[in-house]
Amino acid sequence: MSEKEKANILLVEDEEHLHETLKLNLEMEGYTVTSAYDGNEALKAAEEEYFDLIIMDVMLPEIDGISVTENIRLKNNDVPVLILSAKNTGQDRVLGLKKGADDYLIKPFNLEELLLRVDKLIIKNKKIADKDFVFDTYTFDSNIIDFKAQQATLKNGSVIELSKKETMLLKLLIENKNQVVTREKILQSVWGYKVYPNTRTIDNFILNFRKYFEGDSRNPKHFFSVRGVGYKYID
Ligand code: CA
Repeated sequence: MSEKEKANILLVEDEEHLHETLKLNLEMEGYTVTSAYDGNEALKAAEEEYFDLIIMDVMLPEIDGISVTENIRLKNNDVPVLILSAKNTGQDRVLGLKKGADDYLIKPFNLEELLLRVDKLIIKNKKIADKDFVFDTYTFDSNIIDFKAQQATLKNGSVIELSKKETMLLKLLIENKNQVVTREKILQSVWGYKVYPNTRTIDNFILNFRKYFEGDSRNPKHFFSVRGVGYKYID
């Protein structure tokens, strides 16, 4: 599978003809395209699914594209956003970029240019997401996690088997130790594209980590959830 086949794009455009043209062309390039025709649909889709890129029209029914972008950023979602606007004013452009857009195209635009920019934004984002510090084992508080074997040796000496997702989540949290890892990032990295479990699922993983690794699971020192934002491992 090429990167393009895997990339998932949210296309937000209310003009039906333009929407269909863009969708068709993006699909011809190998992207998977999800459609939204107004601001509310766009917000809902961005919350329910992981996207590699959002193409966002500015003038939309319900909520305008710049407000939608701002809203997505307020939820700590770092998805790249490419704004499409009919207004050719410098001010509008600056506002879009200030509110969190990554790039900007003025309508009418050249289709080739759009596809090039889409490609660039997706590749740039993937490079950041793939930043990976590979290590095989990690020790804390006399717990030893063996990521390759998917096992952990607990401080009492017992060895437990970890599921693949438990191993991936532990690795992600530990690689980003002392920082909050957003829910979106966890869903993207551990659960992959398309299928999102509900928030409870991650909470249950965190509860298990506390049971395995914490001296007192009700007074955790290592595994925390940060309400409304994400999760954190503290060294
Ligand atoms: Ca429009």
